Amino acid sequence: MSSSSSSSLSHIGRQTTGIPTRCWCGANLTTFGAQTKENLFRRFYRCEIWLKRKHEQHLFKWIDEAIVDEINIVDAKHSQLKEDVDSFKVSTTRRLEKHAKQIDQSLQQIKMLMEAKTNTCATQDNYASTSEDPQPSTTISSSSNPLTNIAVAAIALGAMVWIYARISN
Ligand SMILES: [Zn+2]
Repeated sequence: MSSSSSSSLSHIGRQTTGIPTRCWCGANLTTFGAQTKENLFRRFYRCEIWLKRKHEQHLFKWIDEAIVDEINIVDAKHSQLKEDVDSFKVSTTRRLEKHAKQIDQSLQQIKMLMEAKTNTCATQDNYASTSEDPQPSTTISSSSNPLTNIAVAAIALGAMVWIYARISN
């Protein structure tokens, strides 16, 4: 059972992911240059305790493999992040559409209420003055009232501010 053969070294190397920061014995890692024929000057991570106790199994990892490993990890994190952002975009758009629909509905209701109110006011006015137009009840009177438009605009603005506050949480 020799720990210096290349096959057992690469086996140990697979147990760490990315660029290692510490040996599993707790010691800090140093980089060394390999002196074997097939890996001459190829650099690897090892702790200094291993220098004194080479019969023990300490963390071993080729630096080039660690860097490729690290890139793959970052890559995976990056795609995960992109997925998260995409799904957030979709859910936010759905929520926005839902809220917009609700606002439309409430605006419609407010408008109808306002129209009903202006119409009753108009009928009262007409009743008081008994003027020329005998049918004030239906269309024209409501949209020309600037107060109604201002109120609707204010309510819409308030709803938008509310939605913005909810979304930016
Ligand atoms: Zn160690």
